[in-house]
Amino acid sequence: MDKVIEKYAARQIPRYTSYPTAPHFNSGVSAATYRKWLGELGEDQTLSLYLHIPFCRSMCWYCGCHTKVTKRYDPVADYTEHLAREIDIVAGAINARPAVTHVHWGGGSPTILADEDFVSIMKRLNDRFRLSSEAEIAVEIDPRTLDMAKTKALAASGVNRASLGVQDFDAKVQEQINRVQPRPLVARSVSDLRAVGIEAISFDLMYGLPGQTVEGCVATVEQAVEMEPDRISVFGYAHVPWMKTHQRLISDESLPDGGLRFEQSEAIAETLERDGYVRVGLDHFARRDDAMAQALAEGNLRRNFQGYTTDTADALIGLGVSAIGVLPRGYVQNTSDAGGYARSLEDGALTTARGFLLDDEDRLRRAVIEKLMCDLEVDLEAAIREYGRASDHFTEEVAAMAEMIEEGVVEFDKTTVRMTELGRPVVRAVCALFDSYLGQGRGRHSGAV
Ligand code: SF4
Repeated sequence: MDKVIEKYAARQIPRYTSYPTAPHFNSGVSAATYRKWLGELGEDQTLSLYLHIPFCRSMCWYCGCHTKVTKRYDPVADYTEHLAREIDIVAGAINARPAVTHVHWGGGSPTILADEDFVSIMKRLNDRFRLSSEAEIAVEIDPRTLDMAKTKALAASGVNRASLGVQDFDAKVQEQINRVQPRPLVARSVSDLRAVGIEAISFDLMYGLPGQTVEGCVATVEQAVEMEPDRISVFGYAHVPWMKTHQRLISDESLPDGGLRFEQSEAIAETLERDGYVRVGLDHFARRDDAMAQALAEGNLRRNFQGYTTDTADALIGLGVSAIGVLPRGYVQNTSDAGGYARSLEDGALTTARGFLLDDEDRLRRAVIEKLMCDLEVDLEAAIREYGRASDHFTEEVAAMAEMIEEGVVEFDKTTVRMTELGRPVVRAVCALFDSYLGQGRGRHSGAV
């Protein structure tokens, strides 16, 4: 790895799927605040819904998600009932009927739901919200929990995008991360999904996992490309055993070092670009004719808690334990305590635990960081103008960039900050210069590559 990149890659920096980032949310945003914000949504605004299913059949040792392993279905059935209540309560707090343009099921493993429960929640969403006929309805899929009956249930409920957790096709790597799913299983899932009309397929791949090699990563990419997914996300494994204790099952010694991680991510990117995929932001790749590649070309790419997205809705409603929503006034997060979540809903209450009330300065900085993360460049002058700030508003941030400019990581032409090809992998280090909250004591993050 280039010495300069190595220096920035070692820094602990957020992934910037929001700004401010979740560790800075606070209890000043309550259920009453959320209810008020929901009531302010207008008929002509658009909504995106995120449903969190915090259950899995077994624990993948690299997992960084909010989830819990269950062998029994009872807790899942119980949770589904509470989720239905939450849908009713949230929808009831919205006075208008804004159109829903995106629905995203994440987890955990949404496909752990019994087919009839999945169908029933989708029906409830249709009853309680105004789902646009054009809405994208996406589901994160664990191929190990998918069979033809479930695939048909997804299609019958209107699902039109499937995002499959693949990670790596190498059997030895799969063993080391406790996620054994042979390639034929993934291939069958893809062909079943296409057979029922779910044509939009995304894959999640990973590098930096125990036992991974550069050659193995490239082999996985080549096998993935043969299945022709529209999008491929490539995430670096974040080893944070102090936060995710099951990650202690992955020994530090089995992990590739920073240099090897960098080589893996670059080799994956080169292979995907050679095979016709467009590189989107930091870690996504899309076929040229895919909506995400078009959004990038048109400057409409966005970033949310799922990473890069084409979702431009005015508000995101988070449903389920720990789910985060984004409303015009700020962020809201449901409680992460499953018991508290259930009790609030049984009392007919929203389950908000915390959030963040945005002011105009936050919005300006959020816009700058999002542009940098999506387009790898941002016109500071235009952003300052849009938010009515003085022209010298970012003088300090620009001054702090001097060393990076000298090192060839970033360019600045008096108005526009632009990542160089060298600097692309460490774009988060430049975003961090515009983050007013970083270093205020809360939150410990993974490395920047
Ligand atoms: S299936 Fe996904 S959410 Fe569940 S343990 Fe594995 S990585 Fe985590």
